[in-house]
Amino acid sequence: MFNDQSAENKVIVFGTVRKCIDLLASFRNISSRIAYIVNTGEDASDPFFSNYTIMPLSSYRYTSGDRIVLMKAYPNSFLCDTGIPAEAVIPLHLWLAGLLRDPIVVFQPWRVRIDICTLCQLRCRDCHMRDPGEATMGYGYIPAETFKNFIDDNPFILSIEISNNGEPLIHPQLHEMITYAYEHHVEISIWNGTNFNDVSDEVLEDLVRYQVRLLNIALDGACQKTYEVYRRNGNFNKVIHNIRKINQLKDKYHSEYPHMTWQFVMMKHNYHEMDMARQMAAELGMTIQFRDSWNADERAAVAALSADRKQAKLLPDADHNTFQTYCSDLLFHPQINWDGRLLGCCQIYKSDWNMNAFDSGFLTVVNSDTYRKTLASILEISPVTADIPCRTCRHKPKTAKEVLAVINS
Ligand code: SF4
Repeated sequence: MFNDQSAENKVIVFGTVRKCIDLLASFRNISSRIAYIVNTGEDASDPFFSNYTIMPLSSYRYTSGDRIVLMKAYPNSFLCDTGIPAEAVIPLHLWLAGLLRDPIVVFQPWRVRIDICTLCQLRCRDCHMRDPGEATMGYGYIPAETFKNFIDDNPFILSIEISNNGEPLIHPQLHEMITYAYEHHVEISIWNGTNFNDVSDEVLEDLVRYQVRLLNIALDGACQKTYEVYRRNGNFNKVIHNIRKINQLKDKYHSEYPHMTWQFVMMKHNYHEMDMARQMAAELGMTIQFRDSWNADERAAVAALSADRKQAKLLPDADHNTFQTYCSDLLFHPQINWDGRLLGCCQIYKSDWNMNAFDSGFLTVVNSDTYRKTLASILEISPVTADIPCRTCRHKPKTAKEVLAVINS
């Protein structure tokens, strides 16, 4: 375990990759734990780095006692070329865990997920929210005033993901929230997903005018007959119509946003339409992502179909997740329920952390002993002791490779 973070024992960080900014910006007072950053060849012009001394790699000479953190996986030859002995390198996940156990450092994520609305107009077949008694976060939506207060109270938050367990675009005060976020330089994204069936013309325009970054649109099929098997009450043509409207508005406003992704959950009834969906997505200017179903029977059926038809090679590697990196939510975008209850990650829907981010304050809950120790334990691949859902969760990383996937997701 690495938790010796005394000021005189600063580390040298190698790398100015985007991930470096993402991670370092999530901790306040962290500069007191870093001697300097070595630029290994990436662009270090981001203003973020003005707070640090940046040394070119060519100027670095290893000195006994240097303690190094590598921000990305460099080739084996890298250590030889730089003269750094392997034992001088502190694994990134252990260094982050040490920061979380360091009382001087404040954990301050600059992204967050607020599940703004758990209501939905569809009845998707396997959705835990449509199964009475399954999920405990309740049905409702965050009042616009609360959302705006959250932005005011947490000026370091730069990005809010607003979807997860419901349909965000039916929130009745969406216009007010999207415009407020835009005016306060907070990026909005709908990354976990929207069914995109019912969107008013005003909201469609808002999504483009106010630069919502991403719309991940759930479309598990390439025609109504297939689509409605899972997305019950859904209307395929309405979704396609809304996508076309977004494209028209992007032309009108000369906007690259929102990016749109087509999320296609593979099931036995839609497997034959994957190619058609791929073509349609390309025509609509969307990226398509094929995802495994949450339903184990469906996963098994698709695996069999894939093998039988020898179509596996039709699925680029990038389409398939082999390890689910849900724990990254704790590190990069802690999840808050619409009523303020801290959920932590998107996998927590049957209980919560017994903390409320709206009542107690966001920074207070993510800097609570429970939160920081739990996240540190996950990064260290050590048991979670707090009585919270993570303790028994099967998605915790079990190897260094998996924990690095969490950090790099
Ligand atoms: S251990 Fe499970 S519940 Fe906890 S953050 Fe990871 S995925 Fe979520």
